[in-house]
Amino acid sequence: PETADSAQVMITDLVFSYPGQAAAAVNQLSLAVPAGLHVAILGHTGSGKSTLLQLLTRAWDPQQGTISLNDKPISHWSEAALRSMISVVPQRIHLFSATLRDNLTLAAPGADDHQLVGMLHKTGLEKLLEGDGLNAWLGEGGRQLSGGEQRRIGIARALLHNGPLMLLDEPTEGLDAGTEQQILLLLRQHGAGKTLISVTHRLQGLDLMDRIYVMDQGQFIEQGTHQQL
Ligand code: ATP
Ligand code: MG
Repeated sequence: PETADSAQVMITDLVFSYPGQAAAAVNQLSLAVPAGLHVAILGHTGSGKSTLLQLLTRAWDPQQGTISLNDKPISHWSEAALRSMISVVPQRIHLFSATLRDNLTLAAPGADDHQLVGMLHKTGLEKLLEGDGLNAWLGEGGRQLSGGEQRRIGIARALLHNGPLMLLDEPTEGLDAGTEQQILLLLRQHGAGKTLISVTHRLQGLDLMDRIYVMDQGQFIEQGTHQQL
């Protein structure tokens, strides 16, 4: 199958409305992200940020425009190739009624216990190993996790999957300032050489990003570096 170790993103004149909705959630939007660039997307609630990330994963078909990865429209990619290319931290993390191990490896079946434990330490989740270790049962009938712990499970999953394109939807939402800083540095470290598109409401960490876009009503209304904005 097609594999790639870098990802260049090209979005051209993208238009998307949800079924039955008159207003476009993404409206004539274009974006070019060279391989290896780290980009932040800011914007008010409802401005279309999550929709844009979902369109990149082909969760929806746009009415107009194209999205290409490495110069190939994603509509031409196989499901498997697209999945291996993209690592996602969605806005809402789903935990399955399964072990901690299975909850981490669902997108990274090749990861061994040593890697999983290492990633739990890096994301500050080592406490979850107390008791049953990687066999701890999560979800229904098992251990419930705090919002911040769920966020970091999402980040751990994405980093274990390790695709060349990382899409992060509010990766540090609900984390205290110290933990947020730890996660931002981790993302920067693991994201080196990868293309990273991060949606955020937070100002912390923006100085680590190469470029910042501000979204409003499905369009970018401002763009620049941290210093320019
Ligand atoms: P937030 O910062 O609150 O996460 P966002 O910028 O991610 O907001 P989106 O979730 O992309 O915003 O939503 C963009 C627009 O599309 C909003 O008007 C929202 O109400 C609408 N929308 C989102 N999901 C759906 C859906 N599944 N069906 C219909 N409309 C939707
Ligand atoms: Mg959102």
